Amino acid sequence: MDAKHVYVHVPFCARRCSYCDFAIAVRRTVPVDDYVDALDREITLRFGKERGADVETIYLGGGTPSRLGPVGLRRVLDLVRARFPQAVDAEVTIEANPEDVSPDDANNWRDAGITRVSLGVQSFNDDVLKWMHRTHDASQVASAALALRAAGFEDWSLDLIFALPSEVERSWTDDLTRAIALAPAHISCYGLTVEPHTPLLRWRERGQVHDAEEERYEAEFLEADRLLSSTGYEHYEVSNYARGDRRARHNAAYWRRVPYVGLGPSAHSFDGAERRWNAREYVEWRTRILVGRDPVEGAESLDFDSVSIEEAYLGLRSSAGLPVSSTNAGDFDRWRDRGWAVVVDGVGRLTPTGWLRLDSLVADLTDVRSR
Ligand code: SF4
Repeated sequence: MDAKHVYVHVPFCARRCSYCDFAIAVRRTVPVDDYVDALDREITLRFGKERGADVETIYLGGGTPSRLGPVGLRRVLDLVRARFPQAVDAEVTIEANPEDVSPDDANNWRDAGITRVSLGVQSFNDDVLKWMHRTHDASQVASAALALRAAGFEDWSLDLIFALPSEVERSWTDDLTRAIALAPAHISCYGLTVEPHTPLLRWRERGQVHDAEEERYEAEFLEADRLLSSTGYEHYEVSNYARGDRRARHNAAYWRRVPYVGLGPSAHSFDGAERRWNAREYVEWRTRILVGRDPVEGAESLDFDSVSIEEAYLGLRSSAGLPVSSTNAGDFDRWRDRGWAVVVDGVGRLTPTGWLRLDSLVADLTDVRSR
């Protein structure tokens, strides 16, 4: 597989956040040796030992990769780089929880060649963080930002969640303002969704919380766009904002549909035609590997129509947009009249109000194409 992008899933978390349905393994103590050994075997089983071509991005996601500790982290990076050597200017990202970022950690990450840190902040309100079952408080976000700066990280990002239930008393403006005050190079804003098998779904079923009304979802999405754009951030993807050239290169590879390799439980890989995914649960993934079985448990190849829909969706969700053609020109004209799109130099892009309608606009477009 000629992939230039490698994702490594590190599934361990101290506990499950109230809204989270990711493939995680809740562990008080992270089984670093077991995990690293299984990862090493996965690479050998699936890709052999021969050193491949240089890769442009390596992304350690989770779960909470920062819980691996400096030695575990170094071992993971060493074995990934032995098979997937990184280009000189590669982006190497680690997802981290704020409480895991001490000055020593930040320095260790720099020494290990990590170039980018993505902090799971979500809110600066301690009551909200408790409601989310997060393991940090707001003061630890400020300390983490200081530690990253002192270690020389210019490229770091923070995540926020908007559209919380109205029962959760939260000021979105305050959270945005506090995020901007820390001046990260990149900010991601995700709307809360209620997923199966989460405490949040149980709370909703019991009537303890209710989804944010559509009007508030839209208002908070547009407020983020307004505040962040007016303070130097470019809204370059429906959920992502960057200053200067600090766009997330790894995630952009997914949006461009280029090949990538995924390692670890639940990780997805794509070779340009087929998407494959590993066993989701940590124990199942590791057990397969220990008995010499391929950890990949599923695969799909998209037909022509599905590829067209995916290309339309991925193009429209970012500022890359889509080339305007005879097939879609009518749609872009209509959307432009409503303020949902702009067309510049033959490329159609959605505006923030267009992004709020992303799914239905993609459906319009692909419906026309298939006629
Ligand atoms: S830290 Fe992240 S991955 Fe872990 S439970 Fe919370 S949201 Fe999920």
